[in-house]
Amino acid sequence: MTTLTPLDLFTIGVGPSSSHTVGPMRAAARFLAELRESHNLADTARVQISLFGSLGATGVGHGTANALVAGLGGASPERCDPLVVSTAFERAVATGSLQIGERDIAFAEDDIALRPLTRLPQHSNAMQFESFDANGNLLLSKIYFSVGGGFVESEDDFGATPSAPDLSLPYEYANAADLLALCESTGLSIADIAYANCVAASSEAAVDATIKAIWSTMRGCIEDGLSSDGMLPGTLNVTRRAAGIGRKLLAEEETGTPVSELSNEWLQAYAIAVNEENAAGMRVVTAPTNGAAGIIPAVGYYAQIFKNVPIERIERDYLLTAGAIGTLYKRNASISGAEAGCQGEVGSACSMAAAGLAAVLGGTTQQIENAAEIAMEHNLGLTCDPVGGFVQMPCIERNAIAAGTAVAAVRLALAGDGSHKISLDTVIETMRQTGVDMSSKYKETSTGGLAVNVVEC
Ligand code: SF4
Repeated sequence: MTTLTPLDLFTIGVGPSSSHTVGPMRAAARFLAELRESHNLADTARVQISLFGSLGATGVGHGTANALVAGLGGASPERCDPLVVSTAFERAVATGSLQIGERDIAFAEDDIALRPLTRLPQHSNAMQFESFDANGNLLLSKIYFSVGGGFVESEDDFGATPSAPDLSLPYEYANAADLLALCESTGLSIADIAYANCVAASSEAAVDATIKAIWSTMRGCIEDGLSSDGMLPGTLNVTRRAAGIGRKLLAEEETGTPVSELSNEWLQAYAIAVNEENAAGMRVVTAPTNGAAGIIPAVGYYAQIFKNVPIERIERDYLLTAGAIGTLYKRNASISGAEAGCQGEVGSACSMAAAGLAAVLGGTTQQIENAAEIAMEHNLGLTCDPVGGFVQMPCIERNAIAAGTAVAAVRLALAGDGSHKISLDTVIETMRQTGVDMSSKYKETSTGGLAVNVVEC
């Protein structure tokens, strides 16, 4: 069982999807590593990849083929050049050549096959990698699952009964009740507990550097989105809006409208900016996924600009509290749209952001838990139905609305004393059950909802 720490919920990567872009790039890199370890790389003359279920259904719109080709060439989500990745598949097809590690082998378009109607029993996001020698003999075959948030599991370790975690953390908790009890017994905040656990899995210097890099990337993503006009990639002809909204708001400020009156509009612009960057395949932080990547940066930036929260508190208390709540969703329900629908992605992000904001605005541990609970409660049942398989409609606006929901949830929670009827654990379990009951049409397959009722033009 791999140790899960709060910062694992935030990965610096590329758009447009954590499960369909970041995960497949990591799976391809893992296959490359296994080819090396098994001494089959030198004899590999062809690689065949099959994408099953949701990956086969919406992989084209999510840039999955680009991610696979880039990953086999050795690219990683953290360090790759997003512009190079965005044309990787097209280049491989045009040249008939695939870079795999330090070698070049022949490549044809159908070496990446889409099999949307085949769902492997373990998970909807499955990939099979097969390598063959020059005579067509199978050298190595591996199946991986992209389980959301950029996390990848192999067929060998999928669903294995966890024995003990790789590493024991100073503060172990299985659910929100445990986390609250730990805060009560130690006098520590949720962020303190999260920090101690992250340091135990790494080091203080590494954790501090990671937190800074995450927030810096999130802010940079907002700023890049607010300064980029034009069309998003794909066949939907979606025009970027964040930069135009930002210009309009600046013009209003210049005519004397107090900036505080525009805080909700800026909050939405921040979220849209990030999700437009994500849709364009640029550098983003999975938070906890790419489709929901705008909510946590937008709410954090809103706190910094409009609530005067110092950047040090955003980096530490906001992100770590949000990450700790994210671990509860990852462990006890799901952060994957393919598993739980959009409630798992946008709902989890909204809940994480609400917890973080309540923390930096001085909420008690009970008020933080209440804010997280309210935020998820009103995302229950939210389906995943991206039009054309692109992470654009409804995803981009949905992040803006969820950022507003997170702020509203914090207002409600801070207006009370922290006591409430429905616990965060109850709402997380309800989200899990709702996800299990949800038709596969609404779980990132683009076969239901808006995806079938909106005419692509
Ligand atoms: S609808 Fe929600 S879960 Fe589905 S791709 Fe968009 S943001 Fe992700």
